[in-house]
Amino acid sequence: MSAKQGDVLLLEMKDPETFLRKESEWFGNLKRLRVPVIIFAACPPDFEVWPGGLTYWVSNIKTPDSSSDISGIEGGVILSSADRQIAELTEIRKRSGPILSARNAAVFLEFFRENKIDLKHISVLSGIENRQNVSSTESLISQRLCEWEHASSGFLFPSGMSAIFAVLNLLRKKEKPQVIVIGLLYSESYTLLMDSGLSSNWEAIFLGLAELDRLPEILSDKTAMIITETITNPLGEVPDLEKIGNIANSFGVPFVVDSTLASPANCQPMDYGVDYVIHSTTKYLSGSNDHGGGVVLVKSNEDALALENFQKYWGLTISPLESVVLLECMQDFEERMERFNTNGTTIAKLLSEHSAVAHVYHASLPSHSSFSNAKKLLSGIGGVVSFTLKDESEEGLQNFHDKDFSAILKSPSLGSNQTLICPYPMLTHYFDTDQELEEIKLPRHLIRIAAGCEKDLAPIIRDLNSALLRAIR
Ligand code: PLP
Repeated sequence: MSAKQGDVLLLEMKDPETFLRKESEWFGNLKRLRVPVIIFAACPPDFEVWPGGLTYWVSNIKTPDSSSDISGIEGGVILSSADRQIAELTEIRKRSGPILSARNAAVFLEFFRENKIDLKHISVLSGIENRQNVSSTESLISQRLCEWEHASSGFLFPSGMSAIFAVLNLLRKKEKPQVIVIGLLYSESYTLLMDSGLSSNWEAIFLGLAELDRLPEILSDKTAMIITETITNPLGEVPDLEKIGNIANSFGVPFVVDSTLASPANCQPMDYGVDYVIHSTTKYLSGSNDHGGGVVLVKSNEDALALENFQKYWGLTISPLESVVLLECMQDFEERMERFNTNGTTIAKLLSEHSAVAHVYHASLPSHSSFSNAKKLLSGIGGVVSFTLKDESEEGLQNFHDKDFSAILKSPSLGSNQTLICPYPMLTHYFDTDQELEEIKLPRHLIRIAAGCEKDLAPIIRDLNSALLRAIR
């Protein structure tokens, strides 16, 4: 085998470890030539020292086939001594979302320690008591989501990001390089779309919510899809899905909506001509802060078949342990969502009447630019409420945020049963210039509250009132 600089060597063989030992000189040569060597193997290696010349070891990890009931617990691993590449891979994985369930990881760890694992042990490790019906869990979840969303098929993914990744890549065609984005997308979706290292060849066109009249003239046979969110994050804007849906349908362009912030309780985008509805089930649908997942819902059989094939091809399936947790959490979803809505609206009103607050972003308020669209399309606005302080300085934000809260948790997530707070742009747009933030109308020191579904809101309000008091100077 002769390899030269610029080549990449992929090796797949029965006993790679012996081969690596025997051919160490050959591997040394490859290293000098800077030829990356990737070994594909059935299971992780057992060597104590990383062999010189080997760049990556890629293998499957799964629980043994003997216990067929848990054979769906599998994952993959990439081992390497190349730190920079691993850091890049980590970023790519984060963005495209094929995340290994923490429950699967716990099971694998135990299996590697003990070299055996049984069902009872798995239940304890994953915090799942009752694991009957595992095989039907996924279909029960998608059935329920389809009923709520007026869809015909649903597919579960390991995370919301992997659901978005799947739809973006499914619809991307060589001859259709254009995507039209309406409003502000979730920051990671935006990066997935714009980072040429991840999804090359997208020509993204951005339209504001008030610019929909320009949509027909922009659409062409190069357009792969129109994408938006039912309620945008963090400014709570509500695009006119009905208007966009009518235009998309009449041009035969797929219409994709990430409806995570509305949840299936507050809007049924498919009623307005949407073809693909995406949710991160990590958020409202579970609410428990210990589940990761995503779902794509479709209404045409043709779209369902294409998505099913894509999902199988890329192995983007949810762990059965995660779907059990999700189904359990979904039992009281509708009731929880009512409280998310009322808590969000109560907090928005309180903030809007407070003297320390400059502006509140929640479409329940008549002052919000999307108030009338929300009235038309949504039955509830959800728990995400963003606001700015009158003291716009970083010090003002610090006065508000950098003290302990007693009932509110500081966290960048949303849709949790417990109320969360974070200085959103400081976390997600830290490196953006003032001009870049101005273009997307995002105030640098905006604060985002993701109201929980607490039955008693009094401790949350006490927390907010004292933080606001600190922010008045
Ligand atoms: N879509 C929206 C609107 C989100 O806010 C998020 C996460 O915050 C995601 C998708 C990604 O979901 P996940 O964290 O499950 O990958």
